[in-house]
Amino acid sequence: MKKEYSDILTGLPNLILFHKMIDDLITHSPELDRFAIVCLSIENLREIKEAFGYKTGEKAIKGIADYLDNAYFTSRIAEGRFALLIPDIKSKKYLENIMEELMDKVRTAYSCDKEQLYISMIAGISIYPVHGSDTAVLLQNAEAALNLAKENGEDIQIYKDAFQEDVMTQVHMANMLQNGLDRQEFTLYYQPEFDLRTLEIIGVEALVRWYQPENGFISPEDFIPIAEKSRLIYKLEQWIVNKALSQKLQWEKEGLHHLELSINMSSKTLESERYFDKMENIISSYNVDYSKVIIELTETMNLANLDCVADRLKRLKKLGIKIALDDFGTGFSSLNHLRTLPIDIIKIDKSFIQSVLDNNKEAIIVKNMIAMSHELDYRVVAEGIETQEQYDFLIQNCGERGQGFLLCMPIPEEKLSELMKICKYNKEIAV
Ligand code: C2E
Ligand code: CA
Ligand code: CA
Repeated sequence: MKKEYSDILTGLPNLILFHKMIDDLITHSPELDRFAIVCLSIENLREIKEAFGYKTGEKAIKGIADYLDNAYFTSRIAEGRFALLIPDIKSKKYLENIMEELMDKVRTAYSCDKEQLYISMIAGISIYPVHGSDTAVLLQNAEAALNLAKENGEDIQIYKDAFQEDVMTQVHMANMLQNGLDRQEFTLYYQPEFDLRTLEIIGVEALVRWYQPENGFISPEDFIPIAEKSRLIYKLEQWIVNKALSQKLQWEKEGLHHLELSINMSSKTLESERYFDKMENIISSYNVDYSKVIIELTETMNLANLDCVADRLKRLKKLGIKIALDDFGTGFSSLNHLRTLPIDIIKIDKSFIQSVLDNNKEAIIVKNMIAMSHELDYRVVAEGIETQEQYDFLIQNCGERGQGFLLCMPIPEEKLSELMKICKYNKEIAV
């Protein structure tokens, strides 16, 4: 084999040759049966090297390469990664049996210089011609399946078309988001938060809305996760915060000083040092009454570094801002978040409020969430109040604040202004 086509450590064909051979196979064998391209990854290579040394790691790679090379046309495509071809795939079951046997052989304690090494392997598979008619696409799809296997904790994953669709939707949506930002397709709606006893509006929650000309309204539940994955969330949130605080400034000028403003913030902005600094600069540039500004953190968010986020939240609190834990009760570590983060307000998730009357368990949970919040000196807000019965339940159980479709839907700024005028008028009449 020519030197430029072989991998120095294992002597296996490298990716260039592997590519070329599969291309040739596809071009010159029209009668070709289904075959599989498998991407194999040694998941614990780093640990092996750390525990037994670099040389042992290399020996393990070499040993696996020899085993695979004896059985299949194999290439080493990255340090601990191989690609191989399994011909004549007769059925899915047939492929699965071959793979299980192969993985068992490679994975079971592997002998290397008398050290018993456990090799942790995962595999992603694509099948010709179902998952691609050329080598590049087949390899790309096998790698995509490998990544999915890793995410789902599986050891063998066959590529799925639906998965491809999902990725395409995400890429497409990320493009649309970028365009949407450039073309200013976003707006903010505001959902009033009420004092449940007096029914006075004490604050509003800013909720982003996206009207996409070709697809109509797209829900934030659909585009926020994609904005987070594609890192467009930073730009979007900077826009949201600028817009919401300009509005707050305007309300203050109109005499609506008392109106609190809640803004949702994603974990991404809180976790990035650079973007958090930017956000802090934006927020502090407005000079509004910060004691009436609330930042809401979603309880389900997966905070990688809780202490770091806690420090950043404390920086916001120095301005006077309050912190709310949103969707309380839905995350894995509600109580841990309460303990670690400087929280002032708990927002009980709407799923609890919506089942308080059908489910005794939920009713007890909500009662206790309210009682606990009072005892620990948190302000408590119930969200998603949709019926009179849910409202009555909250009143009976000392819920003080709430929002929900029963009280008011999220509305655009103009509507909110009208509503505030009516409320002011009613209050004046009452006085
Ligand atoms: P969230 O923060 O829990 O916001 C409350 C959601 O509940 C809003 O949905 C609101 O329209 C909806 N809602 C209000 N009252 C009721 C009710 O009585 N019943 C029911 N079933 N739903 C009610 P929306 O606007 O679709 O937002 C969904 C989620 O998207 C928000 O949940 C929040 O996590 C995220 N989101 C929305 N706007 C922003 C934003 O500006 N920034 C960030 N980072 N996330 C946002
Ligand atoms: Ca919220
Ligand atoms: Ca919520």
